[in-house]
Amino acid sequence: MKITAIRTVRLPPQPAIGADHPDARRPSWLADGPVANPMTGYPRYAAYRPSWTPTWPMFGCLVEVEDGTVGFAVGQHGRPVAAVIEDFLGPRLIGEDALATERCYDMAVRMCAPFGAAGLASYAISAIDLALWDLKGKVLGQPVYAVLGGPTRDELECYATGGDPDWYAELGFRGVKLPCRYGPADGLDGIRKNVAQVAEARAHVGDDIEIMLDCWMAFDVDYTVRLAEALRPYRVRWLEECLPSADLLSHAELRRRLPWQPLATGEHWFGVAPFQYAVANRLVDILQPDISWVGGITPLKRICAIAEAAGVAVMPHAPGNTAYGQHACLGIVGIGWTEFFVGSPPGVALAEAARAPGVPTPVDGRITPSAAPGFGVEINATELPAFLS
Ligand SMILES: [Mg+2]
Repeated sequence: MKITAIRTVRLPPQPAIGADHPDARRPSWLADGPVANPMTGYPRYAAYRPSWTPTWPMFGCLVEVEDGTVGFAVGQHGRPVAAVIEDFLGPRLIGEDALATERCYDMAVRMCAPFGAAGLASYAISAIDLALWDLKGKVLGQPVYAVLGGPTRDELECYATGGDPDWYAELGFRGVKLPCRYGPADGLDGIRKNVAQVAEARAHVGDDIEIMLDCWMAFDVDYTVRLAEALRPYRVRWLEECLPSADLLSHAELRRRLPWQPLATGEHWFGVAPFQYAVANRLVDILQPDISWVGGITPLKRICAIAEAAGVAVMPHAPGNTAYGQHACLGIVGIGWTEFFVGSPPGVALAEAARAPGVPTPVDGRITPSAAPGFGVEINATELPAFLS
């Protein structure tokens, strides 16, 4: 079944749900306030993370084959990633067997070698790989998790990520991951405020709900050690992404200095190699590849195999929010807890806030993925306008 076209389309606009929603009890944590990040040392951008993070929109990636079947996936980081698909990878993969996902992924990674298969190119590789898996499921008449060899369990147990832990506990999640607010530039006062945030969350959710802390590449080794020691009474399940993702030497040093604290990272690692290195050197306890960033389902399977054989956990980045992540979690052995990111205001039902057709949202902290063929995303993608013009 040969690929006849790979193209990108514009997605329908999705208005954000804000504090003016009738069910909203207060604004979401995302609406304002600091989140520690790599730029918090620069006062111009320190106060609010969206003041500098990319605003390229999401788009749709379509793969079409001879009999008219279409595979669809959502791509991220807009124009530059769509250009890699439309101008470069797409034309070079036309004519290949669409069901040969291993071959297509390998070709895409190798062809990106001259400019690097990591970073933005990895988002393009991911969109094509996921569209091919959607197509494979549709051709076989099976949900992707079944094509992968699943289901490996009945449902997905989720934890919630965001700054409103009281709301997540009320919704039935058994774990909450807080965005850490302050970093090294905020000094001792920042450490005190970070500890106060975790202490307040622990007081809200009690002892039967796990608490994690997401540090989004904001720290260095010394700051991470100091904060971890200050947080020890609050039993943080893991500290996440404390360091710049490419600084592997610092990851090794942090592991050496914090042997007692579970560590997680990987959402900003691309391809298989960084995960293999992390497993081989025992850099962290939990790997967190993002299915839509790392290269798709195909490299995720390899990462899970490497990790499982070495007894290292894999808990992907925000898989609960996408059909791709949900099917991967249900279809691959060794993937643990499923993260679900919540950016909507407390009080607004998750199903209303998500509004992705065919993609279920957690009920009492659990998700049962769609059993429709492919990823089950209900969108008539072929009628959408071209993304690049
Ligand atoms: Mg994270």
